[in-house]
Amino acid sequence: MAAILLRNGRVVDGTGAAAFRGHVLIDGDRLEAVIPEGRELPAAEETIDVGGSVISPGFIDMHSHSDWMLWDPDHPAVLRCLLEQGVTTVVGGNCGFSPAPVRPETLERVRHYSAMLADRPVAFAWNSVSEFLDHVERTGPVLNLAQLVGHASVRARGADTLRGAMNPTEQRKCLDEMRRAFDEGACGLSFGLGYDPGMYSPLEEIQAFCGVAKESDRPVSVHIKALSWLSPCYPAAYLKPHNLRALREMLDVARKTGARLQLSHFIFVGRKTWPTADAALRMVDEARREGVDVMIDAFPYTCGNTTINAVLPYWFLAGLPDGYRSAWARARLRAEFAISFRLVGFFYRDFQVMDVAVPGWEELNGLTVEEIASRWGTSPLKAVLRLSEESGGRTLMLFHAYSGEPGNEGPLESVLRHEACLFETDVVVKSTGYPNPAALGAFPRILGRYVRDRKFFSMESAVNRMTLASANRFGLGDRGALLPGRAADVVVFDAGKISDTPPADGRPAGRPKGIAHVFLNGAHVVKDGEYVPGLRAGRVLRG
Ligand SMILES: [Zn+2]
Repeated sequence: MAAILLRNGRVVDGTGAAAFRGHVLIDGDRLEAVIPEGRELPAAEETIDVGGSVISPGFIDMHSHSDWMLWDPDHPAVLRCLLEQGVTTVVGGNCGFSPAPVRPETLERVRHYSAMLADRPVAFAWNSVSEFLDHVERTGPVLNLAQLVGHASVRARGADTLRGAMNPTEQRKCLDEMRRAFDEGACGLSFGLGYDPGMYSPLEEIQAFCGVAKESDRPVSVHIKALSWLSPCYPAAYLKPHNLRALREMLDVARKTGARLQLSHFIFVGRKTWPTADAALRMVDEARREGVDVMIDAFPYTCGNTTINAVLPYWFLAGLPDGYRSAWARARLRAEFAISFRLVGFFYRDFQVMDVAVPGWEELNGLTVEEIASRWGTSPLKAVLRLSEESGGRTLMLFHAYSGEPGNEGPLESVLRHEACLFETDVVVKSTGYPNPAALGAFPRILGRYVRDRKFFSMESAVNRMTLASANRFGLGDRGALLPGRAADVVVFDAGKISDTPPADGRPAGRPKGIAHVFLNGAHVVKDGEYVPGLRAGRVLRG
């Protein structure tokens, strides 16, 4: 690759320092120089006049699930939307689930966990983390990957106990698996404590895992046990907000172990949970004042993706598939939904199908459960059960009323404004269906709506959080800043125009506006806003 000069830019270098007019020289896969206006321009094979646009480091999506497809030959067509919004690095392996380590005997368990996250069935051409990372590197990912090791995956490999406390030998094996994963390049640990099996793990186990992360100087990303004030993970008799209890438990683990804590997708699920946002942020503030190394992350939308089975209680899931036919189970479910939906502040209209995952039913993608029920002439509950059964639980949903709703986004805004908040997409990107708007526009929305239009924080601060602060969180040494010698991951965008194109009038979200160019390890992967097909310039960033 030849030297490329980006001239006449407004350099926002990722460190948080004030923007300045200048030029950036890329040589091969490195940044060669950042030159303030007025100095002599170096020679270059190619010069692009960016006409006053911002030049910044590539964005880091610090909570991604795209590690479940980065080896697939067709993944560039699916994940191009991330590059086109300026993302150059994804942190994968979140919510407890990583594609490695695995072992053949317990592969079925990991397959089951990953059914919703992967775009296609996974062949698992690896066992260890290093084999997995080598495989991704060899096949050529379209983005950089920094990989977390998932607690659920480590358990499936190291222990035969499915749920709940492991015996001491199993636990020792799991902790050794984790040390090995770190040695082999995993840059942190993740938990999915709202999902099977994490939801059954005792606090002592969580603490032991965090202890090893601390001893290896790796961060811990955690999807806490409850994200709504009432959740099936704690007894219904516990009358205080369940999400605050889950948060307190995890902060206490960080206090005891000294682990670097990253609270994943800091959301408040359901209208009745929104009022707990201030108390949750105060708990984070208090812990930070005490010296606990804790940060949070969030996506800038009031909807998020998960499986249809996330609405079904555990007693019902444990009794499948017979439960679909049981009149008793349906009656109990109907009664429970009537109560719990009202208590949490959720309605069937909040559940929108992203990818139905049933051949022939594609026309349902984008509809809410309420709309599907009326189309089928049935009740919303029956519609949920039919979708769950026919898809084997693989129907991917977009749930609304996360931290607010259009026109009433107070809790979301408090989170985004918080000094310890980093940004993410948290998207499950699929080749089919109705897209999660964050897949197309999360980062442009922050820079347009919240920086330019609403002035929540400065451009320098927003870019710092999207780049260097996120890189530092995961120890990605040569990423996140426009400094000579660093990797040439660069975004060029028009600060006056940048924005997402959110869904409207039944139409899904569209491509973002204002992003002109993206360079990934020096390769010009997005030109005039469009991904250049065929380019797979990503690398594996080992911890
Ligand atoms: Zn999660």
